[in-house]
Amino acid sequence: MAAQILDGKKLSAEIRAKIKDETAALREKGIVPGLAVILVGENPASKVYVGQKEKGCLEAGFASFLHRLPSSTSQQELLGLINRLNADASVHGILVQLPLPPQIDPDTVLAAIRPEKDVDGFHPVNIGRLAAGLPACEPCTPKGIMRLLRTTGIPLPGKEAVVIGRSNIVGKPVALMLLAESATVTICHSRTKDLVDHVRRADIVVAAIGKPRFVTADMVKEGAVVIDVGINRLEEGLVGDVDYAPVSEKASWITPVPGGVGPMTIAMLLENTLEQARKS
Ligand code: NDP
Repeated sequence: MAAQILDGKKLSAEIRAKIKDETAALREKGIVPGLAVILVGENPASKVYVGQKEKGCLEAGFASFLHRLPSSTSQQELLGLINRLNADASVHGILVQLPLPPQIDPDTVLAAIRPEKDVDGFHPVNIGRLAAGLPACEPCTPKGIMRLLRTTGIPLPGKEAVVIGRSNIVGKPVALMLLAESATVTICHSRTKDLVDHVRRADIVVAAIGKPRFVTADMVKEGAVVIDVGINRLEEGLVGDVDYAPVSEKASWITPVPGGVGPMTIAMLLENTLEQARKS
């Protein structure tokens, strides 16, 4: 049976419409949610992502503060800007677009953002709070994945969830969130032995690897929910980490690429920023 589509484009549009309404109400009280985005250098993919974030802000009625810095920017200069934004009451969220040029240490920079303005959810305090099961500013892509999973109506407690990938921005936090929902979670990575055996047991597969069509139909259990986080730019266009057509013949639910997880990431960024503005 063909899988049902987990339509991130549609869900994200619904969430963004709600954010827009809530923003209008907040603006009437004199509060304008403000997101500062810092782009250092000329990375073409980063420019695209930053453009999407700026467009999302403006559509929602937010103030968007875009800081474009040259690739020669020093770490001190960037930290100086972050300190100014930390102290600026009109800025509720600060996002530093990664990757950064080699002279800048991303860990130092991310740790310099005030945790309550860390709308990307990458600050060690927010990661720690997430790990401890405390309220945190949650990272956007994993938060968007959980929101998509919720729309399936499938109860997560006791489900076998296999996350492929252990990055700080996707794999690890989504594994923590699945664990918080009482799924039984396995994290696979490049050193995992018998990866196929792990994935075949999974009721829920999250693929966050960055390798086109890595997850093939023979690896997926009949009826599994398959979340494809991968964005791979090939000549034929954007391709996920899942071999979509054959896997969708076996899965019960699947996210397309594009139009699955990607649009949810920006919706969650806007939601995190709105939450911080509400608290201000
Ligand atoms: P990283 O490169 O940081 O991490 C990739 C992970 O995949 C690593 O943990 C790595 O293992 C693992 N991996 C690599 N090769 C294999 C293999 N052969 N077998 C098993 N595991 C393997 O990537 P990200 O987490 O940042 O991103 C993953 C994908 O998701 C990318 O395509 C990225 O573009 C996309 N992405 C999409 C977003 C969206 O909004 N839709 C947002 C963020 C990312 P190890 O740790 O051992 O090296």
